[in-house]
Amino acid sequence: MIKDLEITCLPHEHQDDAALKKIASATLNIALSRLFALKIVKRSIDARGRKVIYRLQIKAFIDEQPAADVFTTNYPNVSKARSVIIIGAGPAGLFAALQCIQLGLKPIVLERGKDVKQRRRDLAAINKQGVINPESNYCFGEGGAGTYSDGKLYTRSTKRGDVNEVLKTFVAHGASPDILVDARPHIGTNKLPQIITAIADTIRNAGGEIHFDTKVTSLIINFNKIQGVKTAGGNEIKANAVILATGHSARDVFEMLHNQGVLIEPKAFALGVRIEHPQQIIDQAQYHCENRGEFLPPSYYNLVEQVDGRGVFSFCMCPGGIIAPCATDYNEIVVNGWSPSKRNNPFANSGTVVQINLEDVAGKPDDPFRMLNFQHQIEQAAFKAGGGNLVAPAQRMVDFFEGRLSADLPVNSYLPGTKSVELKQVLPRWVNERLRKALPEFGRKMRGYYTNEAILVGVESRTSSPVKVPRDKETLQHPQITGLFPCGEGAGYAGGIISAAIDGINCASAAFYVL
Ligand SMILES: Cc1cc2nc3c(=O)[nH]c(=O)nc-3n(C[C@H](O)[C@H](O)[C@H](O)COP(=O)(O)OP(=O)(O)OC[C@H]3O[C@@H](n4cnc5c(N)ncnc54)[C@H](O)[C@@H]3O)c2cc1C
Repeated sequence: MIKDLEITCLPHEHQDDAALKKIASATLNIALSRLFALKIVKRSIDARGRKVIYRLQIKAFIDEQPAADVFTTNYPNVSKARSVIIIGAGPAGLFAALQCIQLGLKPIVLERGKDVKQRRRDLAAINKQGVINPESNYCFGEGGAGTYSDGKLYTRSTKRGDVNEVLKTFVAHGASPDILVDARPHIGTNKLPQIITAIADTIRNAGGEIHFDTKVTSLIINFNKIQGVKTAGGNEIKANAVILATGHSARDVFEMLHNQGVLIEPKAFALGVRIEHPQQIIDQAQYHCENRGEFLPPSYYNLVEQVDGRGVFSFCMCPGGIIAPCATDYNEIVVNGWSPSKRNNPFANSGTVVQINLEDVAGKPDDPFRMLNFQHQIEQAAFKAGGGNLVAPAQRMVDFFEGRLSADLPVNSYLPGTKSVELKQVLPRWVNERLRKALPEFGRKMRGYYTNEAILVGVESRTSSPVKVPRDKETLQHPQITGLFPCGEGAGYAGGIISAAIDGINCASAAFYVL
């Protein structure tokens, strides 16, 4: 017999099977000896009361053993099947490729960047020497922006597809099964590269192709039908379906589309800074204690405030994390964040940004590059203010609010280095003011948040794509070009790893119908 139940336990008990069985048998009012096994279905931390507890949804196996969980990577061989070209090997592109295989189509994935191993050297050059490779960086290469990300796997787009199937695919390729039960699943930058490599192996073993160092430079379009692509190496690759999953940082792709007369549109995004605190301050506020101890994970926060009619909010919060230099070209600064699987770094960071609407930015309303150019200008201003070598402009939190240059900066996790700068020199006044006003309000919501121990590092500008590539709601094809499927974050249809993966799956399913 299997019974579903919800139990609560103390942090030190949540991974102690014997302790959990005792609680479950008492809750079910049955003898402990009849409780053969427990399977956790959902796990979350409840820190609302004075005592922090775990809430567990559980399946209790009474007088019977559970069947073992099996996560398979069995895919059919598609080496001789009809081809689909997928541009970009980020989560959208890779999950599109897996779905193509499931549907009996052969994916040909073209990726401008390098495989994860070679990419690592370019990341070391970024962090140690402040040198950027425009083709291989935190955004470009095998696994896309998802590979060296935090690997937080929660999404609000649960209606667009089966989140659990995406999580199971990650588990089948080496992720911990914990991601299937945790309320806030997370993989970690140290574990993602192996998982991405395993997914790429699955694609190749099934007869799909993945080509690195292969930048697509134009689309082959004939009478409004896609026929293939041309690459920087001068090759032509033919197919009647092309999934465009190039991410939000491939500015040359937007130019390519525009130059080829393919409709693109300006898109709103959010702009601000990364804010970093000592992790202990966040733990103290959220867990109401001096030290969180060994049984609770580093805590997180989620803050939002309306300021002068516009949302100011934290996002992509990385407990125990690192602020990463995520520029994709010379002379620009872009920051983002990640954390290792154990989240054992002493800092907590989050993007803290102001929503920017189309009407906020001057320019011709129909100029598709209006928002992109604005984004780029801010990133270049940040680079100039930092003084080069990816040194980022930064300011202490209270100094920022009080309009004072910081006399010094706290030790922080941003490896290329930070320089004390008044961030109002970099951010537009209307962004700066809203951010400024939001910080003490956040401090009122979360004890300890508003402190000069926190540092603001500029700029968090790649929050989502500044350009939209339109598509038909039903067919997912570009309204002008049959067979072209704008996909993932770059086209404006995803905002994270899971939503990008789901969009990749949906685009591959839609491509099946045009072939
Ligand atoms: C540091 C960091 C941390 C993040 N943390 C998280 C997190 O914890 N959780 C989360 O959900 N999201 C996170 N994100 C965001 C997440 O990584 C993206 O939302 C996601 O990767 C988008 O997927 P995508 O496949 O649409 O695009 P991308 O991942 O951007 O992939 C696009 C790919 O296309 C390739 N490409 C571009 N142009 C061309 C071309 N012309 N020819 C061939 N290939 C091309 C690029 O090289 C790239 O590999 C993070 C991002 C960063 C940078």
